[in-house]
Amino acid sequence: MDIKVNHLSHTYEVEVLHDVSLSLGSYSAIALIGQSGSGKSTLIRLMSGLEMPTSGTILMDGLETTNPEYKKQIGFVFQSHSLFPHLTLRNNITLVLEKTRGFSQEKAIEAADYYLDLLHLEDQKHKLPKHVSGGQAQRASIARALSVNPNIIFLDEPTSALDPILTHEVLHAIEELKSLGKQFVFVTHEMAFVKAFADYVVFMHDGMVLEQGPPSILDHPKTSELQNFMDKVK
Ligand code: ADP
Ligand code: MG
Repeated sequence: MDIKVNHLSHTYEVEVLHDVSLSLGSYSAIALIGQSGSGKSTLIRLMSGLEMPTSGTILMDGLETTNPEYKKQIGFVFQSHSLFPHLTLRNNITLVLEKTRGFSQEKAIEAADYYLDLLHLEDQKHKLPKHVSGGQAQRASIARALSVNPNIIFLDEPTSALDPILTHEVLHAIEELKSLGKQFVFVTHEMAFVKAFADYVVFMHDGMVLEQGPPSILDHPKTSELQNFMDKVK
């Protein structure tokens, strides 16, 4: 989708995003980076239509994020998995497909199994979330986000609740999804992953976008803020 963010500001108690403008074209993997509190989650929530901006606009292929047509085209993966605890991994997906997309039970199972296989969860699908590892649960969340066949998927620190090995497992699974031809907007502190996967990087600091461009901007920071950030995450 052609993503255009125009003069976006957002206020909770105080203004946390200040006049953010971005023209992201149709990059397939857009990384939002920056230190904690810099406004990444706020921006990703606004881009996904989960919240309305205080001022400014976001157009996705010309659609406002409030447009019901747009809402049908997105998937979202949060920091910790948001699976329903009382349902198996498979039923977490079939429920969504049956309730929100009108799938028959048979079609829903077919689709759920397809995406669970894609995330290498074929052996886990009959288990409850509490009986699988955090990495497997997070991969099931990704499978669920994909199952509605969105054009764009937002991932907000999908691995921050995981240890390094599970982090690697989840990031590897995401990398494998590149061939699906979906668009990804993601927040992460895993710079090796950003360099390997992202084709566009947006660096935020104090609610502003200070640098943006291809991942090579990380090797040659123009601002002291990005330099400091890179020194910290290394
Ligand atoms: P990041 O994801 O980069 O850590 P956030 O977008 O979560 O940053 O937060 C940006 C700023 O907005 C922070 O100062 C945070 O405390 C504040 N903030 C975020 N969400 C809320 C909220 N729901 N209510 C009040 N303040 C919030
Ligand atoms: Mg955040």
